[in-house]
Amino acid sequence: MNYRHGYHAGNFADVMKHVLLTALIKALCRKPAPFCVLDTHAGVGMYDLSGPQARSTGEWRDGIGRLLGTSPGADPVLDDWLDIVRHVMREHGGELFYPGSPALVSRLLRPGDMLTCCELHPQDQQSLKRLFRNTPAVSVHGRDGYEAVTALLPPRHAKRGLVLMDPPFEQKDEFQRLAKAIITARRRFGTGIIAAWYPIKHRAPVRAFQNALKDAGQRNLLALELTLRPPLDPSRLNGSGMIVANPPFGFEDVARHALDVLRGHLGDEETAATVEWVVPE
Ligand code: SAM
Repeated sequence: MNYRHGYHAGNFADVMKHVLLTALIKALCRKPAPFCVLDTHAGVGMYDLSGPQARSTGEWRDGIGRLLGTSPGADPVLDDWLDIVRHVMREHGGELFYPGSPALVSRLLRPGDMLTCCELHPQDQQSLKRLFRNTPAVSVHGRDGYEAVTALLPPRHAKRGLVLMDPPFEQKDEFQRLAKAIITARRRFGTGIIAAWYPIKHRAPVRAFQNALKDAGQRNLLALELTLRPPLDPSRLNGSGMIVANPPFGFEDVARHALDVLRGHLGDEETAATVEWVVPE
């Protein structure tokens, strides 16, 4: 396990993923019944952007770095997420700290809602456990997130919820494993929202991934993509994608607007934002 998210925290892909994740959780908050979130690949939860890892790549500068200067209230679609990011930075005395998915979700939970995180890297799971040691609504498992899809779904505490799958794509067969996990998660938790992040380096693996889901008979699948440039050079992260199964009512329009706004902040004339049904309902 060589991947450390600290090198990439707050980059354009994180920003896209976290804005959409916030919109999904906000949609769950529209109904009073409690919900559960399973974060299968959670990371360390909180990232110091002045630390050696983030400093060595500087990737955050073309991600969250481009949004910190926007005035609060400038665009409601970013506000829920940016308010949390700004709050986290204020809590750290104005230092550049960035909340990863578990820290973000934990701040959106209401009383009765729960978050379960899985993180396999021994050091990262210790950091995550420390972060949430006084937060009873959040549990941290040092286990394989793909196994957790079978072991922990359907959730025991609530009938509604979301599964976030955000693997590191270190393994050659990660797209196949992800497709399999999405299918398993939906079989075990049919009403749940499943959101899975994927890298866009070039088109072929993304097409194969989406076709695998289609061929397995999956329906109600929305793909959201932000490509900084045409995905032609497979050695670069040219774009960021998220596939959402069972998207909540109204999410398609919110996502389309969010990606359009992000394109303005994060991209240039080569940048494209798309929201497309891989398979409709
Ligand atoms: N979701 C996080 C966020 O948005 O802040 C970032 C997660 S990062 C892309 C992927 C994480 O998955 C890494 O911290 C890595 O150590 C962990 N990981 C890798 N393989 C795993 C597995 N099979 N199960 C659980 N965690 C895994």
